[in-house]
Amino acid sequence: MASPDLRQLLRDRGMRVTSQRLLIDRALRDHGGHLTAEGVHELVEPVLPGVTQQTVYSTLALLSDLGVARRVSAPGPSTRFEARTDDHHHMVCDRCGAIEDLHVRVPVSRVLGASRHSGFAPTSASMTVLGLCAACATR
Ligand SMILES: [Zn+2]
Ligand SMILES: [Zn+2]
Repeated sequence: MASPDLRQLLRDRGMRVTSQRLLIDRALRDHGGHLTAEGVHELVEPVLPGVTQQTVYSTLALLSDLGVARRVSAPGPSTRFEARTDDHHHMVCDRCGAIEDLHVRVPVSRVLGASRHSGFAPTSASMTVLGLCAACATR
């Protein structure tokens, strides 16, 4: 399923609703994980022959701007995207680079408050746990 409101969001911006945009959104959503533009490109290439990685990247950036996807706020060599848009935390494997959602509620209000005290205007805050993923830890 594409995001229910993606068509409307595109129309509201005067942008065309293309199958390319819908399919890239759906690929990210159906996968449910944290993907680079390269990873999404591999998923959509069979249904969008000839689509370039650059096009996939700019479409993912557009989906993030529209609020139906997010750039993952976690370290790594390349930007990852995910369909989950609520504030949440991540575990990042130092060895294989795997990123997983961390299912815990952390009161980030104090963190946000502290940043406001220094004159910063925060939009969100999240935690990143670094270490070894389950697979790498048992290797
Ligand atoms: Zn790992
Ligand atoms: Zn996530």
